[in-house]
Amino acid sequence: MNTTLQDWVFFYNPWFAFLIGACFGSFLNVVMYRYPLRRSVVSPGSACPNCDHNLAWYDNVPVFGWLWLLGKCRYCKIPISPRYPFYEALYGLTSALALWWFPIEQWPLGLASAALVLSGTPMLLLLIRHRRAPWYLILIAVVAVAVLVWRTWFAAAAV
Ligand SMILES: [Zn+2]
Repeated sequence: MNTTLQDWVFFYNPWFAFLIGACFGSFLNVVMYRYPLRRSVVSPGSACPNCDHNLAWYDNVPVFGWLWLLGKCRYCKIPISPRYPFYEALYGLTSALALWWFPIEQWPLGLASAALVLSGTPMLLLLIRHRRAPWYLILIAVVAVAVLVWRTWFAAAAV
């Protein structure tokens, strides 16, 4: 352990990882919804799938946005699928678990595990349902697997 690693300890903690994972989960929900429709995943911003009303940032907060709206659109009151907060919580929890499991000395394994779950889950779901997936999810998943293989097998063999 050296000082440069210590400086990153604040960011390398499960609570922070949950937050970041849930935010990525929010984006991945948009990808899951829009990618099969061949629509841009970056613009426009999040809108209600029913009434198309733009969502304010406070309605868009991962997991909690859904909870304090009681699972309904603020404008047209149509129920919003619980799978959105479910996936946000799932990605947040797996990110937290990955960083909790691997100490900061093994940060490449922690980050790669979290990245693999976050990219691999929507990639597989899209491949199963639509037989195609965004290139950036595939790229992240491949890189994450490469890091995991390299850090576990080859590092273990070198010892
Ligand atoms: Zn609505």
